[in-house]
Amino acid sequence: MSKMTVKIGGIVIGGGNLIRVQSMTNTDTRDVKKTVAQIKKLEKAGCELVRVSVPDMESAVALKKIKSRINIPLIADIHFDHRLAIEAIKNGADKIRINPGNIGSEEKVKEIIKYAKNAKVPIRIGVNSGSLKKQVNYNLKIKSKNKTANYMVASLMEYIEFFEKNDFYDLVLSLKSSEVEECVEAYRLADKLTDYPLHIGITEAGTEKSGVIKSSVGLGILLYDGIGDTIRVSLSADPVEEIYTAYRILDVTGRRKYGVEIISCPTCARTEIDVIKLASKIEKLTLGISKPLKIAIMGCVVNGPGEAKNADLGISGSKNFGVIFKNGQIIKKIPKQKVIKEFEKELNKLLKGDRK
Ligand code: SF4
Repeated sequence: MSKMTVKIGGIVIGGGNLIRVQSMTNTDTRDVKKTVAQIKKLEKAGCELVRVSVPDMESAVALKKIKSRINIPLIADIHFDHRLAIEAIKNGADKIRINPGNIGSEEKVKEIIKYAKNAKVPIRIGVNSGSLKKQVNYNLKIKSKNKTANYMVASLMEYIEFFEKNDFYDLVLSLKSSEVEECVEAYRLADKLTDYPLHIGITEAGTEKSGVIKSSVGLGILLYDGIGDTIRVSLSADPVEEIYTAYRILDVTGRRKYGVEIISCPTCARTEIDVIKLASKIEKLTLGISKPLKIAIMGCVVNGPGEAKNADLGISGSKNFGVIFKNGQIIKKIPKQKVIKEFEKELNKLLKGDRK
């Protein structure tokens, strides 16, 4: 965890503060209505910082309207043109993300720094393995076993040096790659060499299935190492899925308790209720719930309540009846056809006041 803190809108990251969950819209930023609608959906799912692409002036100008209609900090993602970064700052971006290597001359980056400093807008230096500088002169004091990771971190350190020379310290860093080992090694090395907050993510991780696995492995390792101040899961899917996955990764690694964890059995010949259908129904029902809860759905009473004894609420089947249990203790035995309804009633009692 970084020692330094950075304030993005109303959220402070780094320095042991909560690890914040971020996502990115995939709408046309110029389409304010659609972009705001997607951000609202992300907010409802628990997104705490949102990034939008700013590929042209019209998008940069649209930020003003977007920001006035949302409740979470807005981050502008800029490539190539420093004027877009300046315009984004003028239109209220709470943070900007640039890869200084593709902005062009140092003078152009200095211009961005000047505006960001005046507006107290932090900058994320986002180094990506796919778009590295051709020449890096920075000598790393320590190195990783992974060559690309070394190169990524050396580029990053060179950028940091430049920003610091220009008296700018309001920085967040990221070192993304779609290769888990490369990415993990780069973040580990950067964590040793700097104290700035780190935004972690495995970039272009893939589809909802493979991307979740890749992100869970990569981000899981980093989080267990105590690395990461904000997190983004990149998926080729609805960005709402990124939020759900990010929270689950934080929860499983014990870095942040958030939302409902479903404990469900794999089913077997003893199964007496439709675990698969019910588990996915409950998962959908509890998306966007922030209260940390464990809900168990177990196929039979033989092992169900015992194996899920840590669950706040659980259900399991039996030949003629179903049971509802809390903390491993059966609280209700009900005819099988009525048990799911009763379970949902108990679940709603638990979730009362926590629905957004
Ligand atoms: Fe089978 Fe019961 Fe275990 Fe589910 S909880 S896998 S039904 S033994």
